[in-house]
Amino acid sequence: MTGVTPELLAAPWVCATCGSHVAGPGTCCGEPRLDLRDERVRDLLRDIDLRAEQRRETRARFLGTGIGVVAVIALWCVPGYWTLRQAYGLPFLADQWAFMILIALGVMKLLGRGTKRFPYVDETTP
Ligand SMILES: [Zn+2]
Repeated sequence: MTGVTPELLAAPWVCATCGSHVAGPGTCCGEPRLDLRDERVRDLLRDIDLRAEQRRETRARFLGTGIGVVAVIALWCVPGYWTLRQAYGLPFLADQWAFMILIALGVMKLLGRGTKRFPYVDETTP
C-alpha cells in the first residue's frame, strides 16, 4: 500500500463508532475493532462518513429554508419596506425570493460543514 502514514500502519485497528484507532484488535464502544488495512473496511468507513455528511446537509437545508422564510416575513413588517420597493418598481416578490435564497444558502454554508469521523481513511487508499 502506498500513501499510508507510519502512524496508521502502527495503529490500523479502528472503532466504527467513535473513530479511534489503536495498534491491536479488541473492542471499543462495545463493538469489535475493524482492520483498516482491509479495503472493505475502508469502504464501510467512507460510507458512514458520507451518510453523516448527507444527514447534516439535509438538516442545514431545512433550517436554512425556515430561517429564510421567517426573515422575509419579518421584512414585511419593517415600516417603509413596501413603499420603498414600490418606488423601485420591483417585480412581484422578486426581491423577497432573492433574500430567501441568499439567507438559506448562507445558513446551509454555515451549518453544512462538519468534521469527519474517519479523516484518516483516504490516507490508507492505495
Ligand atoms: Zn469506540
